[in-house]
Amino acid sequence: MAIPLSLHNPPASTDIPRQPKYSKQTFEVIMECYICDVEAQESGFADGCKSVECPGCGRYDISGSLIAVKRGNGYRFDIEQMREWFARQRQIYPDTNPFIRDGNQRWAL
Ligand SMILES: [Zn+2]
Repeated sequence: MAIPLSLHNPPASTDIPRQPKYSKQTFEVIMECYICDVEAQESGFADGCKSVECPGCGRYDISGSLIAVKRGNGYRFDIEQMREWFARQRQIYPDTNPFIRDGNQRWAL
């Protein structure tokens, strides 16, 4: 099942507060990046959302519900496509982290 990547119509998401890119977050939890599985750091914020600082993917946010979908189904992200999406989001919204949520993720098939 193909899930469209909303490259051209990024959701104007205001229902979950996004983390400012340069906020003074403390990244204390060592984990594996949700995208590329290398060692990264994360911190939580609203509603189970996570901010991740990954040496390969940079800093991004991911919704708690999407993490649950990923874990529940054993899905993996398409690393290249997600990093391309990050790059585009950082151009469009330079002041906030790219925020992966249901509807703008791209699973590896
Ligand atoms: Zn990564």
